[in-house]
Amino acid sequence: MTKHIFVTGGVVSSLGKGLTCASIGMLLERRGLNVRLQKFDPYINVDPGTMSPYQHGEVYVLDDGAETDLDLGHYERFTKAPLSRDCNYTTGRIYQKVIEKERHGDYLGRTVQVIPHVTDEIKAAVRSLAGEGVDVVITEIGGTVGDIEGLPFLEAIRQFALDIGKQNCLYIHLTLIPYLKAAGEAKTKPTQHSVGRLREIGIQPDILICRTERELAKEEAEKIALFCNVEKRAVIEERDKEFSIYEVPVSLVNNRLDELIVEKLNLRAKPLEIADWMQLLQRIKNPAYEVTVGVVGKYIKHHDAYKSIYEALDHAGIAHNTRVIVRKVEAEEIEREGAEKVLGGINGLLIPGGFGERGINGKIEAVRYARERGVPFFGICLGLQCAVIEFARNVVKLTDAHTTEIDSNCRHPVVCLLDEQFSITHKGGTMRLGSYPCQILPGSKAHEAYGSLLVYERHRHRYEFNNQYRQQFEANGLVVSGTSPDGKLVEIIELPNHPWFVAVQCHPEFKSQPTNAHPLFRGFIAAALAKKNRDGRQAELRSRREPSAQV
Ligand code: GLN
Repeated sequence: MTKHIFVTGGVVSSLGKGLTCASIGMLLERRGLNVRLQKFDPYINVDPGTMSPYQHGEVYVLDDGAETDLDLGHYERFTKAPLSRDCNYTTGRIYQKVIEKERHGDYLGRTVQVIPHVTDEIKAAVRSLAGEGVDVVITEIGGTVGDIEGLPFLEAIRQFALDIGKQNCLYIHLTLIPYLKAAGEAKTKPTQHSVGRLREIGIQPDILICRTERELAKEEAEKIALFCNVEKRAVIEERDKEFSIYEVPVSLVNNRLDELIVEKLNLRAKPLEIADWMQLLQRIKNPAYEVTVGVVGKYIKHHDAYKSIYEALDHAGIAHNTRVIVRKVEAEEIEREGAEKVLGGINGLLIPGGFGERGINGKIEAVRYARERGVPFFGICLGLQCAVIEFARNVVKLTDAHTTEIDSNCRHPVVCLLDEQFSITHKGGTMRLGSYPCQILPGSKAHEAYGSLLVYERHRHRYEFNNQYRQQFEANGLVVSGTSPDGKLVEIIELPNHPWFVAVQCHPEFKSQPTNAHPLFRGFIAAALAKKNRDGRQAELRSRREPSAQV
């Protein structure tokens, strides 16, 4: 029978609940258990696909095309658990189902209410992941205990233990223990209040995971245990990490969380195997090299807007024993200050996905800088589209080339709407979404990186390379190194007369893991390292030739 872990959060948001769930999933997997993960988001949007990255951070896309919360990215980076549309539900999606049923007449004349109809739908969503061969389902409840919109979810998970037996459910509450410098003390009161709210609803947490800046003293842990009615050994410290988020699972092991969960849920588990993960942490802590990569975007100030990009860069760095320093650049800054000033000294340039007009010229300028200076360039989605526009304008000399996303009447629409997108007016879930195959050109840089001629990558876009310009581009030296299997959609472009200039229409960042960096990111960082070495040698040669210039 599948066991269930429910993870709630208290005191403040952004405590790293997603990371904690991913870490728990990973530890249970590495104890030989088959795990599933899922997240409930109490907001009304049906999915985060229609939300601005400023509101919500990155939209994470799954193979099946579901547009989901970025915590699912953590789940995929830490575990092997298969993820699908069933792994992320919002209030909007739950209500949508209930309302559809009501319109269909499924409730047979009854009054439709939050309890039991909405809570039944939430429980069905939890149950959809359980079943044959699944040992544990971990369900993360988004938001913070005390939020009005979270109540139906908490009520549903309370009922869940009644339905399947308390011995089959575990409630974990993640909380904050703030340290007050003025008082020289860690404060437990917010946690007491938060657990109090949970208990009012009828949920007694079994385990408290306490986020702290400093070590949690024994007396503090004992006080929390007493006031919150949990066992002392079930008050688990999760201290801020110095180097990397990938330290979280290890710190939880050090506090015996895996043992406690296995015992409390009476799971048949194997001894923990994390030797490879410990090696990974060693590599993260002691890199041999360092490169600086510029990431030019529109939502740079929101530190979660390009989450998977930053993670994938880190993974590629780990693979090359390299610390990747990211220079985060607002595209508009390039428009104001010029690419030379803002991007000087970078060893590689990455332009991630994006939407809309703001900053687009800064991105196009950045591509020009990388192309002309031989700086390794990696364009992703809108990044590819910018590279196409830049090439059209500055190499093919189609001076008024653009994407119709921004200038629908431009003379040279080198990037334009996909045919199937023309008649779509609804915004939610209507882009080209999810995993599609891509055929790779033998001998290309893409081929060198992937080591394969057929790959699957995830997509999230409406606009596309305009094939009418393909011949003209190729005649000017651009190579199309990846297409859809029918050859109709351009998926990857590159410039063979450049050290490493590769742009993709897909989002490879969603398929990178710390122990298995994405091949294109690996290729990009290798090229950035090579570029840095070349520049370093040149500087050295120059200084040898002109010794006086050294002073
Ligand atoms: N806005 C572009 C499109 O819709 C690019 C999307 C993206 O970068 N994810 O095609």
